[in-house]
Amino acid sequence: MTVYLVGAGPGDPGLMTARSLELIARADVIIHDRLIPASALDGARADAELIYAGKEGGGEQVPQEEITRLLIERGRSAESVVRLKGGDPFVFGRGGEEAEALIDAGIAFEVVPGVTAGIAAPAYAGIPVTHRDAASSVAFLTGHEDPDKAESALDWRALAAFPGTLIVYMGVRQLAGISARLIDGGRSPDEPAALVQSGTLPGQRAVQGTLGTIAQLAVDEQIRAPTIAVFGPVAALHDRLRWLERRPLHGVTIAVTRAREQASRLAERLRGLGAEVVVAPVISTRTLPGPAPELDSYDLICLTSPSGVEALFERLEAEGLDARAFPPRTRARVAAIGPATARALRQHGIVTDVMPEQAVGEALAAALGSVPVTRALVARAREARDVVPDALRERGAEVDVVPVYETVVEELTQAQTAAVAAADLITFTSASTVRNFLASVGGADAWIARGQSRPRTVSIGPVTSEELRAHGLEPDIEAAQHDIDGLIAAIIRS
Ligand code: SAH
Repeated sequence: MTVYLVGAGPGDPGLMTARSLELIARADVIIHDRLIPASALDGARADAELIYAGKEGGGEQVPQEEITRLLIERGRSAESVVRLKGGDPFVFGRGGEEAEALIDAGIAFEVVPGVTAGIAAPAYAGIPVTHRDAASSVAFLTGHEDPDKAESALDWRALAAFPGTLIVYMGVRQLAGISARLIDGGRSPDEPAALVQSGTLPGQRAVQGTLGTIAQLAVDEQIRAPTIAVFGPVAALHDRLRWLERRPLHGVTIAVTRAREQASRLAERLRGLGAEVVVAPVISTRTLPGPAPELDSYDLICLTSPSGVEALFERLEAEGLDARAFPPRTRARVAAIGPATARALRQHGIVTDVMPEQAVGEALAAALGSVPVTRALVARAREARDVVPDALRERGAEVDVVPVYETVVEELTQAQTAAVAAADLITFTSASTVRNFLASVGGADAWIARGQSRPRTVSIGPVTSEELRAHGLEPDIEAAQHDIDGLIAAIIRS
C-alpha cells in the first residue's frame, strides 16, 4: 500500500538507481511515462500491471487528473505501486503535485530520486554544469512557456543577471525567445551555449554555439525534443571534453543474436565501447534432465560451452552433489574449449587443466593430443559436432558423450527483426545462431534479397563462417580469435 515516486534517469539504463530497479522488480503496478529507458521495465514481474501514462505518438498526454486518480486508486488496492518518471521525479516531473495528492488521499508514498537530464545530458556531452574557473552556481529552469507571454512565471531579467550556468528543460521551441531575453537582460551574445538532444541515449547529439547563434543552430541542425540547453562559459568545454563521441563504436548499431543468458555480457561490452546494441536472441538453452554422470570413473572431463558447465552442475546439484564429485587432479584432467567455459568451471570451484588457444573443437582435440586418456566424458549440447569425441576415440579412448542441454529456436518479434535489419552489424557466435536467425527472418533468400541495406555480418570463427557460406552469405568480418574478446577486437578493427 505504498506508492513510490521513482526517477528512471535520463535514458541510459545504466543510470537507473539500484533502488529503482529493486522497486520495479517488486511492483504490482507500474505507471510510467514515455521518457524512460527502453529497458526500464525489463525487470518487472511478468504479472505486474504496466500502465502507460505519457503521450502516445505525439498525441494527447494522459491528463494529470487521470494519472493522479489512477495513483490513488491503485495505491489503495495494490501493495506496491511504482510511478516511474524520466530523470528525477521532483525536477519538472510533477512529482510534487502527485505527492500532494497522495498525502491528501492518505496514501503512503516514498520518493526515489533519479539522475536528472539537466545534469546528465550535459555531462554526457562533456559539459560540467559547474566548474571552479567558470561557474560556481547553476540554475534549472523550464523553457516551456513562451517568454514573451506577459504573465510568464520566469523573471528573465533576474535569470540573465544570475551569476552562473543556466540549464533549460523543455526549451527547444522557445530558444529564439529565450536567448533574446537573456541578451536583453545583459548577457553577452558571445556567451557560450550548447544543446544536448537525447542526452545519454544512443542517438545523443550535441551542438555548441553562442547565445547569439544557438537558436539558428538548432534550426539548421534540426534539434528536437528532448533537449537540454546550457547557457554559460561551461558550455564551451563541450569541444574539449566530449568523451562520448570519441568512443570506438560510437554511432554503430550492432545486433546480438546469441542466447539471452549469454548476450548480456557481449551487449554490455559493446555498449561500453559506445555501440547501440539490439538484443535479438534467436536461441535459448534448455537443460536436459538426467542422472549425474559418474565423474569419478573418467580420467578426462571435457566441457565445450558455459551452458554445458551449468547443465552438468544442475545434474550434480539435483543429486545433492557438488564440485567434490570431480575426481582428484592427480587422476583426471578437466578440459575447457575456451575462456568462457573455463570461467564457468571456476565459478563452480573447478580449475581447468587443458584449454586450447582457439575456442574450436579442432583446437581442443589438438590440445588434448599429449594428454593420456583412457576414459573420457564429453558433456555438451544435444546437437554438436563430433570432432573431440572422434579424435579421442581414434586414440583408443572410451568416450561417453552426454548431452546435458539442448538449444531451442527463439522466434524474433517483427519489431526485433526490423531493428536487426536496420543495424550496421549483426554478430553470429555459433552456427546455430546463423541457422535460427535465418529461419526466423523467413529464410536466407529473403534475407539476402534485402540487398546492401542489410547489416554487415560478423562471425566469431570458421565454423560459424562456414554455416553462413552454406546459406549463401559471405561473412564481412571474421574474428581472428574465436571468442568474445576476439569478436569485439575484429569489430573495432573493421
Ligand atoms: N524529470 C525530468 C524532466 C522532465 S521535463 C528530469 O529530471 O530529467 C522533460 C524535459 O527534460 C525535456 O523536454 C528535456 O528538456 C529534458 N530531458 C529529458 N530527458 C532528456 C534527455 N535524455 N536528453 C535531453 N533532455 C532531456
